[in-house]
Amino acid sequence: MILDAVFPGVFLSINGKIGLCLVALLIGAWEIYSYWYFRNDKFSKIKCSIEDHTIDCNNLNRHIEELKRTRLDINSYDYGQGDLYDTSRYRFRRSEWKKTQRDEKVHNCSASVCKAANDQPFKYLCKYFGISINEETLAHLENALNNYLAAYQGKILLEQERDRLMQTITDPLPSLYYKLNKSRLAKELGFEAVRLFDIDFQTYRFQYVSSGGNSSYEVSIILDLENLEKFIHYIGDKLRFKNSAKGQRALMTPQLRDKIKTRDNSTCQRCWISVMDEPNLLIEIDHIIPISKGGTTTEDNLQALCWRCNRTKGATIS
Ligand SMILES: [Zn+2]
Repeated sequence: MILDAVFPGVFLSINGKIGLCLVALLIGAWEIYSYWYFRNDKFSKIKCSIEDHTIDCNNLNRHIEELKRTRLDINSYDYGQGDLYDTSRYRFRRSEWKKTQRDEKVHNCSASVCKAANDQPFKYLCKYFGISINEETLAHLENALNNYLAAYQGKILLEQERDRLMQTITDPLPSLYYKLNKSRLAKELGFEAVRLFDIDFQTYRFQYVSSGGNSSYEVSIILDLENLEKFIHYIGDKLRFKNSAKGQRALMTPQLRDKIKTRDNSTCQRCWISVMDEPNLLIEIDHIIPISKGGTTTEDNLQALCWRCNRTKGATIS
């Protein structure tokens, strides 16, 4: 006690080290036990019992990854390639020159165009990146938004389904793992990692760099979910839809997606499985006659399909 009073720091440090060693020992023992547990027969049987569902979840995961990779196939100028050299006799400080980018998604312009693009992004996007205001552009934008929205929703449903499956395991250790280290349990059961919300949205840039190289502006227009929907409305307003025998063309927006899902009772119109049968079922909106085959975005040409049927349909129609 006297020593403790005289040298409190020393004793504290020894106790601390013993404590750390004990924690490290416990973690080591837990890791060794886990390694053994996840490779024993009992766990293999649990893994096998839900294997069909694991495969189904992994297929959905891959399908969503494909949806996320949807590219915006809208026109963009290829400006060609030039090489700029600073041949001036005196080397001025031209730090802003370094920011100059050459890319088909970057438009180098005057300061006034840059500022105007900031005020009216969609107008300048169409004008300077060669994006035509026509049905084809609209269909590409709608397709991308439809796929991205399905991907977002799909990821949430996939996580919920994976959690639901893991919770059905009654064995005490997986239940403990579910609480302590859910991702490890998912991995050991064979679920592929679910990457949330990492869509690489198309970005267009307007860039101004002064001739002296001392000042610059940049306006970025990211066609994310919010901007894509606004852009669809912008193009839709510019195009005047005529009434046809098939009905008035509708804009493929989140509201229309919801409307079709409600109309079809969130039931797949091919296999008739609904969210009542599978609570975490991903329902997608499909063009009955694809746009590429002359189909239109009208309510009677849209239907709710489950992701499995939509995937099969996509593979059979080319
Ligand atoms: Zn189906």
